Amino acid sequence: MTEALVIAGAGQAAGQATVSLRQKGYEGRIVMIGDAQHIPYQRPPLSKKYLAGEIDKERLYIKPERFYPEHDIEIRLKTRIESIDRGARSIHLSDNSDLAYSKLLLATGSRARNMSAAGAELNGIFYLRGIVDVLAIQPHFKAGRKLVIVGAGYIGLEVAAIAVKKGLEVTIIETEQRVMNRVVAPPISSFFQQAHEEAGVKIEFGRTVKEFRGDGTVSEVVCTNGESFAADFCIVGIGNLPNQEIAAEAGIDCDNGIVVNEFCQTSDLNVLAAGDCTRHPNALIGINLRLESVHNAIEQSKTAAATICGTPVAYNQIPWFWSDQYDLKLQIVGLSNDYDQFILRGDPASRSFAGFYLQGDKLLAVDAINSPREFMLGKKLIKQGARIAPQDIADNDKDFKSLATAALAAVSS
Ligand code: FAD
Repeated sequence: MTEALVIAGAGQAAGQATVSLRQKGYEGRIVMIGDAQHIPYQRPPLSKKYLAGEIDKERLYIKPERFYPEHDIEIRLKTRIESIDRGARSIHLSDNSDLAYSKLLLATGSRARNMSAAGAELNGIFYLRGIVDVLAIQPHFKAGRKLVIVGAGYIGLEVAAIAVKKGLEVTIIETEQRVMNRVVAPPISSFFQQAHEEAGVKIEFGRTVKEFRGDGTVSEVVCTNGESFAADFCIVGIGNLPNQEIAAEAGIDCDNGIVVNEFCQTSDLNVLAAGDCTRHPNALIGINLRLESVHNAIEQSKTAAATICGTPVAYNQIPWFWSDQYDLKLQIVGLSNDYDQFILRGDPASRSFAGFYLQGDKLLAVDAINSPREFMLGKKLIKQGARIAPQDIADNDKDFKSLATAALAAVSS
């Protein structure tokens, strides 16, 4: 067999890479290897419409099954890459075979962080990362059942929104004092907390799980302060870890993610990486970071494909992300880490408003709730490094589009 361009992982980034490589005219052999049982699919609906049973599996697929043979892409599913031999430019697979590569693209994603609390191995405790997880969880989604969710991040909150609508009794246990505490400002947290509480979700802040109890199957969640909550089942959403081990073991630089440059090249130029598994530079923001978002997975795959095709274009993207909870679409653009001012525009009671994060008069990030215009314009403003007076943003009588147009014109003049 001839050596191949090997893509490790068959998720969002891997699927996009196959599309981009063929679009850019890559004619060589491509082999995509994934340890899961499905062709590449989108994960966001797993905690949204797919969990709710509103769409079927085929709607998740990035490309229909026939796309891969039609574009001469070999897929090996249920197969794990166990190790990389960089000297021989070859990988060792879980079926005990070896495969030589011309270039290797690591698109191994991230995995759910597991609970270390006692009893975490009991039946009825789930994580939500793949189709198989949803299929295991869905039979428990019956009205009246008690669901305890650990973690009030995006996944926990999206699951809570679906579960409470289906008539489950939902309790969220959260160590911190507010929801989505790592990513949004306190007023946005308060707004979403209220939305969940009005829908009937109980949120227990400042609690940390000490132990899951049950006779084979979980029936009680005990916290470190001694409180306990009855549970028919639990869903844990406490963050993710990058799948970097095969790279690290092969001596490729890793640092909470496989370290890549702006062309998605690792410390070995024959090995590239894209998606959740990478730690990458973002020149627009001026930091190195690891992101877990569809946008990043897609854009880094395009970057990697361009590098492989010999037409490199540096990655140059402002991060963005979305979350759907009830009728609320939250779109987040930019990184708010270093903000010194937070300004609300619009009325939260209308369920359509936006939060702006600034450093002086430099816009860093926007959280738009049912406000696609603020999201789109915010994206442009942040990308251009535009400056905009905080008092203008706060003035709801001033049209935001006019403000943004003026700020963008000032950048280009
Ligand atoms: P993945 O899609 O995780 O794919 C990596 C694949 O590689 C996996 O199948 C993994 O099993 C496989 N793999 C790992 N190691 C090996 C190996 N050694 N050999 C073979 N295969 C291997 N993002 C948003 O922007 N908006 C959202 O609303 C949103 N919602 C989400 C909801 C859920 C429930 C989840 C789980 C994620 C959500 N995300 C969302 C995040 C988004 O789905 C990820 O950022 C995206 O899937 C990353 O793509 P990836 O290809 O890097 O990784």
